[in-house]
Parts: sequence; structure tokens; C-alpha cells
Amino acid sequence: MEYLLGIDIGTSGAKTAIFDTEGKAVCSVTNEYPLYQPENGWAEQDASDWWNAAKTGIRQVIAKSGASSIDIKGVGLTGQMHGLVMLDKDGGLLRRAIIWCDQRTAAECEQLKEAVGEKRIIEITANPALTGFTAAKILWVQAHEPDIYSRCSHILLPKDYIRYMLTGEFATDVSDASGMQLMNIGERDWSGEVLSKLHIDRRLLGSMHESVDVTGTVCGKAASETGLTVGTVVAGGAGDNAAAAIGTGVVRPGSAFTTLGTSGVVYAVSDEMKIDLEGRIHTLCASVPGKWTVMSCTQAAGLSLQWLRDNVCTVEAEEGKRTGTDPYALMDNMAETIKPGSNGLIYLPYLMGERSPHPDPYCRGVFFGLSAMHTRAHMIRAVMEGVAFSQKECVDVFRDMGVPISDMMVCGGGGRSALWRRMLADLYQCPVSAIKSDEGPALGAAILAGVSAGVYADVEEACGNIVTKDRALTPSPQNFDAYAGYYKLYKKLYSDLKDDFKELSELW
Ligand code: ADP
Repeated sequence: MEYLLGIDIGTSGAKTAIFDTEGKAVCSVTNEYPLYQPENGWAEQDASDWWNAAKTGIRQVIAKSGASSIDIKGVGLTGQMHGLVMLDKDGGLLRRAIIWCDQRTAAECEQLKEAVGEKRIIEITANPALTGFTAAKILWVQAHEPDIYSRCSHILLPKDYIRYMLTGEFATDVSDASGMQLMNIGERDWSGEVLSKLHIDRRLLGSMHESVDVTGTVCGKAASETGLTVGTVVAGGAGDNAAAAIGTGVVRPGSAFTTLGTSGVVYAVSDEMKIDLEGRIHTLCASVPGKWTVMSCTQAAGLSLQWLRDNVCTVEAEEGKRTGTDPYALMDNMAETIKPGSNGLIYLPYLMGERSPHPDPYCRGVFFGLSAMHTRAHMIRAVMEGVAFSQKECVDVFRDMGVPISDMMVCGGGGRSALWRRMLADLYQCPVSAIKSDEGPALGAAILAGVSAGVYADVEEACGNIVTKDRALTPSPQNFDAYAGYYKLYKKLYSDLKDDFKELSELW
């Protein structure tokens, strides 16, 4: 029997999973670690916590699955993107990692725009200067901790630190490194122009690989700490969404996935690099060699429904507790009783400001058209529709850019709702299916490892054999027509209210 190992360095914990070569999870564990917020808007984690969680996880899955480590043919790495790990010349950690959601770098983004040029940075890195991306974090350390910066010999992303601990290699992959804002995304390599304009020495960065490349093998020290066999292949791996794409079989143009988690993500694959010069959505190298992806991120997707559950649907929350039923399932049933359009109630899901397709920190949530005839059921349906409208608005941008979407997978907690999936199918006007496996990014990483190790010929073949979906929901043209007027008004409301949101932000 042959196995593959997937390691996902998430924000709340490291998931380690062992799969057979048919993609079945034999055993999976998650080991948690803390997030440090030393100041408002800052977010840091200790990279040694990631390594401890991963190496414990590897030991646990080997022991629990009964797999012999010699049968583990490859290790695939994935995890949170954008984090900054800095090491000294001996490979020791210089400071806590500054992670993806840290927001301390507004000034550095301005510096980045000035140094490279506001349009030029989009042309090269395929994204506007973003506080979450790694480049601005490096500039922050240059400016605020010059002593640490002067001792820094290696800059790594979170999952790439695990690779270093496993193999001793300083390396990264194109999909994860796309989130550093230091790459020429079209050339799939570091950008000499950006690096020199930001005074970042290229030697600080790891070697660049495709996600399916072999980037090293497990060294003696790591083998004794994890129980893996010396010489086991470690693949390039991918950032979390790029790995989830593999785990959901989104590897060809036309196919895409929507995640309805706390935030919402739409992710599609393209044969060519497509850039939105308005910066509404992200463009990254895909984990499939020779392909690119476009990706939108809306801030409060599932979060909107969670907010409604906690603040408005307290009756359903209580009933759920009393009867042992999921309150979201009760809310779903109530929303089912209401017609498309929620009898004239429209919700704008900007509880946390917005990223895609309106990068705007000032906008906020709105119920528009509230009437005395509306009930909680209308509010639930309106929230689900508003979130679905925001995903549709992103899909429209993709299609305008020439990125086709003809087949959509849905994942994340909200994907459990058949009603929400139906709304997406009706609005996108394409078939929508749910994925059967829960393992997402870890499975994607394991598949990449399987390609590296020669277990599979390529990513497309592996996904074709492994990824299974539920029967697709077909879109209803009648429902699309029923939503059309509401969707048009939904889009108009943001532009009508844009300045008012800003004015409101000056009052609170
Ligand atoms: P995270 O991004 O934190 O990993 P999840 O993928 O677990 O989030 O998704 C959590 C969200 O999923 C919740 O906020 C809720 O909106 C939604 N959700 C979970 N279960 C259901 C359900 N049965 N019906 C509708 N929405 C659901």
C-alpha cells in the first residue's frame, strides 16, 4: 500500500493528513497554536509552534494509521499565504512571523506604490499594493526593526518554513509566492525590478519552483523527529486556495470553486495570465504548471449569516441548542419559505468593509427596503441572497476579463446549505455541485506530492481519478429572471451609497 502526506499550516492549527493513492483520508489530525495580537491590527504567530504542531501531527498520523513510513511516497505542503518568516544565517528564527491578516503596513503600501509605481506594481505582480501581502511586511521590518533586518539571511512563507525544517532547503512554489508581491507573475519568477526598487536582496528569498516539483527530501534530523523515512520526497506544494483548487478538482479553464466560509472566495483557472487593472480581484500563478488563477475575496460571506444568527435569530439559536439541531439548518428551512427577492428586501454584506469587487474599508452592511410585513425569515433569505449577489458580482468581473466559468464547486460551511448552492447556480447560470471530501487543501497538497513522487502522471489525471462531487444543481432560468431586477438594484446601491459610507465612517 502506498500513501501520501498532506500538511496544511492554517491560522488556527496545523492539519496533517495521510491519504491512500485513491485520495481517501486514512487518518487526519489538527494541532492548534496561538495567534498573538500585540497591538490593534497586528497578527503574529511563532513559526516554531507551526513546526511543533506539524511534527507532532506527522508522528500521530503515522501511529494512528498504522502506515509504515517507507510507504509514504511524498509530502505535500500548504497553508496560510503571505506570512513573513525571517531566519538568521544559521537558520534560527529572528522574530515572530507577521501573518496574512496583519494590518500594520498602510504606510509601507504607500512607500511600495511610490517606489515601483501604482500601475507598474499591478502590471508586474498582478495585484495592487496590499497590506496583507508579504512585501509591505518586509518594508515594515526594514523601517522599524533595522537590527533584525540586518541579521536576516532568509525570508520564507509559513509552509516553506516547514519545508526548511523537513529538508534543510530554502525554497517556495509559484502559487504561494504570488502572494508576496515580489514576483513577476507572468514570468513565474522573482521580479528583479520590484526587488531592486524595494532594496530587497534576491539572495534572501528561496529558490522558485512549480507546485509539482521535487524541492528536496526528508533529512536525517527531520526523520528522527517525525518518524518519516530519510529521502522521502517533499513537493513544492501550494498556497491554501491553490491547494484547495487541486483538492476540489479545479484544474482546467471553465471550472471554478466558491467558498462560503467566514469570508467568500471565488477561484477560477485560466490558461493565460489575466489582470484586472482596477485591482478588484487577485491574479496568481496556479499550482497547475503553466496556468494562472483569478480569485476574489469578499469579507463577510458566512460571517453575515453568523451575525444574523447571533444577533437576530436568537430564537432559532436557542431551539437548536434545546433540540440538538444546527441553527443554520433551522434558518435555512425558514428562508426556503420565502420567494426569490425576499419580497423586496435587499441586503448588502459589507459588515467588515469589502475587498472584492469593491476594495473599500468604509462600506458597511445595509438592509434596504425593510417593511413592517418582513419577518426574520425574510431577513435570513435576504442575507443569503445578498451574499450570493456579491459572489455573482465577482463572477461577472471574471467573465468580463475573459475567464470562463462553466462549472462551479461549492465548499466551506455555507456550502452545506442546498438553498445557498441553488442561489449560486441560479445567479451564476452554471451547474453547481458540492464536494464530497472535507479535506480540501491537505488533499490538494497530497495530490501535488503524488505527482512529484511519480505516483500520478500529472495533476489533471490525478484529480480526474480522485475528486468526487455530488450531483450538480442545474440553474433555473425562471429564478434568474426573478433575481434580475434585485441584482441590478443591489449593484446600484453600492455606487449610490459609496460616499455616504465614507461620511458615516467620520462619525463613528
Ligand atoms: P471558516 O471560514 O471559519 O473555516 P466555515 O467554512 O466553517 O468557516 O463556514 C462557517 C460559515 O458557514 C458560518 O458562518 C455559516 O454562515 C455557514 N454555515 C454553516 N453551516 C451552515 C448551514 N447548514 N447552512 C447555511 N450556512 C451554514
